[in-house]
Amino acid sequence: MEEAGWSKLCGYSIYPWSIGGVFTTVVIMKDDLKLAFDMGDCCRQSIPCNHVFISHGHMDHISSIPQHSSRRELFGMKKASYYVPDHLLDLVKEVASTFHQINVTDKILDNLDVRPVTLQDKIKVARAYFVCPFPTVHRVPSQGYILYRRQRTMKDEYKHLEGPEIALKAKERVELYNYTEIPDIAYTGDTTFELFLKSPHPDLLKVKILIVETTYIDEEPGKDIIRQARDRGHIHLAEIIDNAHLFENVQHILLMHFSDKYSENEITDKVFSILPESLKKKVLVATIAKRLY
Ligand SMILES: [Zn+2]
Ligand SMILES: [Zn+2]
Repeated sequence: MEEAGWSKLCGYSIYPWSIGGVFTTVVIMKDDLKLAFDMGDCCRQSIPCNHVFISHGHMDHISSIPQHSSRRELFGMKKASYYVPDHLLDLVKEVASTFHQINVTDKILDNLDVRPVTLQDKIKVARAYFVCPFPTVHRVPSQGYILYRRQRTMKDEYKHLEGPEIALKAKERVELYNYTEIPDIAYTGDTTFELFLKSPHPDLLKVKILIVETTYIDEEPGKDIIRQARDRGHIHLAEIIDNAHLFENVQHILLMHFSDKYSENEITDKVFSILPESLKKKVLVATIAKRLY
């Protein structure tokens, strides 16, 4: 897990394999949690992920689902579950089944585990983790996801108990614990900055780690760069800087989905030369794919 490209944040290992318009697959691992947001490229790090959440139907976010399921089969792994916006359910099944007809040895593709996700859903993905979607603003229907952790703390009245007494109470089915649901990570997929301005999801700006697309970072003399980014359904770095106060409660911000036109050095130099101090200390940039792809 110490290899290049992984970020260790708040106990999570995150592999943000992303180039805007080319592919995005963000791998999240912790405890028994093995999850990917989007499947634009089946990078090796994504193969263990047994839960994959798709933000929208653009090729750079969805095209590697058949590849991912097929490579898991090759390694003798169990089927993964693919969660897609409701309207994509039949289409994704159809694509998988077409690949099955092309290559009949990939049995898994014949009956892929694809599940629709609607905005009311709460999906358990590991013992203490679940995922909820939220709507985003893009050129096609799209949604982001919040990963929650269910934390168990012993009720005050039982805190003095020793091990055997706790075991006894548990046997008597006494509820010894309080449970809180903590929004740990938000993943935006592709979106305009409007996501953060017009009544955002109540937990979106309370997360510990915000993984947000920042497709554009440069200025073009005489052009309204922010308008241009919005028209294309994306975020410009300037919008994040102009609204830095919104991210006060977020501990880490991982910028991803940089346009293919920028090099790794251009991204790092630009981002860290213009960010205000309040953001500089919490921002990371997803450039591993720029280096390795
Ligand atoms: Zn994209
Ligand atoms: Zn897109």
